[in-house]
Amino acid sequence: MNQYSASYECWGRFPKASHIIHRMRWITDTIPVDTGQKILPYGLGRSYGDSCLNDGAVLLITTALNRFIALDNTSGILRCEAGVTLAEILSVVVARGWFLPVTPGTKFVTVGGAVANDVHGKNHHGDGTFGRYVKNFALLRSDGIRYLCSPTQNQDLFQATIGGLGLTGLILWVEFQLIPIHNPFLDAETVQCKNLSQFFELSQESEEKYQYTVAWIDCLARGRSLGRGIFIRGNHAHHLEKRPPPPSDSQIIIPVEAPSFLLNRFSIRAFNFLYYHKQRSPRVSQIVHLDPFFYPLDAIGKWNRLYGRRGFFQYQCVVPYEGQSSPIRRILETISQSGMGSFLAVLKVFGDKPSPGILSFPKKGITLALDFPNQGRDTLELLERLDQIVRANNGAVYPAKDARMSAASFQTYFPRWQEFAKYVDPHFSSSFWRRVIAPHA
Ligand SMILES: Cc1cc2nc3c(=O)[nH]c(=O)nc-3n(C[C@H](O)[C@H](O)[C@H](O)COP(=O)(O)OP(=O)(O)OC[C@H]3O[C@@H](n4cnc5c(N)ncnc54)[C@H](O)[C@@H]3O)c2cc1C
Repeated sequence: MNQYSASYECWGRFPKASHIIHRMRWITDTIPVDTGQKILPYGLGRSYGDSCLNDGAVLLITTALNRFIALDNTSGILRCEAGVTLAEILSVVVARGWFLPVTPGTKFVTVGGAVANDVHGKNHHGDGTFGRYVKNFALLRSDGIRYLCSPTQNQDLFQATIGGLGLTGLILWVEFQLIPIHNPFLDAETVQCKNLSQFFELSQESEEKYQYTVAWIDCLARGRSLGRGIFIRGNHAHHLEKRPPPPSDSQIIIPVEAPSFLLNRFSIRAFNFLYYHKQRSPRVSQIVHLDPFFYPLDAIGKWNRLYGRRGFFQYQCVVPYEGQSSPIRRILETISQSGMGSFLAVLKVFGDKPSPGILSFPKKGITLALDFPNQGRDTLELLERLDQIVRANNGAVYPAKDARMSAASFQTYFPRWQEFAKYVDPHFSSSFWRRVIAPHA
């Protein structure tokens, strides 16, 4: 018997949900439509909120669909099953001189999850989203048909499934383009950034010269220091005279839930202050391995437990760039005045490369992502205030990071949602989807 009840979480550990679990083992398996319950695929649960939950209904666990199908070492085209993780791909392709075209800030996500959220990374300003590199995939719908989808075949399902939040069917395998690299290192520079104005200057200056850019900022800094942080930029390293040693594989695992006193406004302020002042010189250049460059948080396993039993919210929005007068200034002011933001926030400029998915989140502008410990109503009210700014400025909030946006917000952020809804598989749904398509006053 392949089904049983179990508790599967999202990364923010809020909300809680209970599911009927069904494990997919082979791409030839069928989808369990006979339970009469709605179905949702589940990868590694690295989505922060309820877009990977399906409370009271079926979760299709995809991690056993973990086989590599083909790697063309000349063209860098990889085909693998949808449950293969980015970590597994890296362990095979890096030594052969290839890298992921786009990677999120953790390698513990599945390829199916990367497609379903059309994930973005530090190279969005020049390279766009993951979906842009997808050549084709097979989609199993509840009618039992396996649809081959590409930009030219079943094009509508292709566009609906990229960034489609797992609602259009089960992705069985994906074929996508890798990029060539010389070695697993990056030529990186970290620059102290005194405030938001300097962030804008550094972003502009780095746009052409650096493939990867991102800033970690202290979201509690105020006044003239608003937006201060560390700006990180880098390119894949060319031929190295001397290779630094690779980082150790060891991971610190947070064994239990942290007590809530660890995360109060004083400890967070102190952490942010120390992080900013950790770098003594204004600029540091170094050769770094791709693991600490792309995946610094992966070194701490289960770090989400630091937020304790009540979990946390992540908030990621994109708003128009508009240089110094960007609405991001008001958003940061609102957060710093509240004193509720958590450890470092991530700030990054998105470029203008169009995302292929109907519901893809990234668009040209500036994106901010940060965590908020779940303090109940206060936190929800603050996030709603941020939503008001984002809504008024034609921005959007990332569904993969969300557990609370209202139906009205979602429908404003994603005006093509009704066009998308036509492709939702009649047997598929999620906790997120039921929440955001609810009619609103
Ligand atoms: C530390 C950290 C850093 C992150 N950084 C970034 C970042 O920089 N950029 C970014 O874009 N995201 C980022 N994320 C979010 C993460 O990349 C996405 O949520 C990703 O989709 C998670 O993949 P997963 O395999 O865990 O999928 P899950 O979270 O389990 O599921 C995600 C969605 O994919 C669907 N899905 C999964 N498998 C399939 C399948 N086979 N067929 C159809 N649908 C499927 C699910 O139904 C769900 O809607 C980060 C997350 C963490 C925890």
